Amino acid sequence: MRIMISADMEGATGVTWTDDVRPGTEPWQRFRRVFTGDVNAGVAGLCAGGATEVLVNEAHSSQRNLLLEELDPRAAMLTGRHKPLSMMQGIDSGVDGVVFLGYHAGAGVEGVLAHTYLENSITGVWLDGVHASEGRLNAALAAEHGVPVLVVTGDDRTCVDANDYAPGARTVAVKECVSRYAAICLPPTRTAQLIQSACAEAMVSAGRGEGTVQSHRIEVEFDATHLAHAAAVVPTVSLVDVRRVGFDAVSMTEAMKAFKVVTAIAAGAVEGIYG
Ligand SMILES: [Zn+2]
Repeated sequence: MRIMISADMEGATGVTWTDDVRPGTEPWQRFRRVFTGDVNAGVAGLCAGGATEVLVNEAHSSQRNLLLEELDPRAAMLTGRHKPLSMMQGIDSGVDGVVFLGYHAGAGVEGVLAHTYLENSITGVWLDGVHASEGRLNAALAAEHGVPVLVVTGDDRTCVDANDYAPGARTVAVKECVSRYAAICLPPTRTAQLIQSACAEAMVSAGRGEGTVQSHRIEVEFDATHLAHAAAVVPTVSLVDVRRVGFDAVSMTEAMKAFKVVTAIAAGAVEGIYG
């Protein structure tokens, strides 16, 4: 049984603030260790439940956050940027389940450090008409490969979201959202136990099924009109409203590639003071 962990950082134990997840800062150096602890708890649980191999795919920012030297030796880590499937690189490698660890709520809703891909600028994303977090997008990609989402960890809002897009998954709330930058946090010793037992229990749901490839539509809303104009130059992408673009794709894999281009172009079009 090979299991993949897609590891994002905003939903890690104790993380509540921008600098906690911004590479190079002192708080980030501190939370890299805590984040690695969450991942290790996941690896321990998965292995206790019967996993024979665990691939950890770094999914946050520069994708160089976890401490390899502190990683559970039963896991291997995919680190660094420019992976075709990004947060989900490895989902097409025959894995029997995926864990979304350290995930967070989507742009435009309540949740600690809530956003979708870009920290700012994107105010909402919709997948086939449904408001979509990174978790929902990534779950659709997992479904295309027949891979079940086993566990989702993050704040309580992340868990509510996951119950909707992956009802079969176990959820672990490592903190309770008070505002976008405040949460009631459980200490790492507590969250490690919760993550470990959820991952161990969830292994009963592991096992790859038939993937379902189907067409999808994604719409993205920005906080400024020029970002929509900038994104609309991408082939297949068109303006659907003054701050909103949309596109159709033949599969979730293709949809995510187009989404990645849209976010990259919009990020590059952000101007200083006027956004
Ligand atoms: Zn994220």
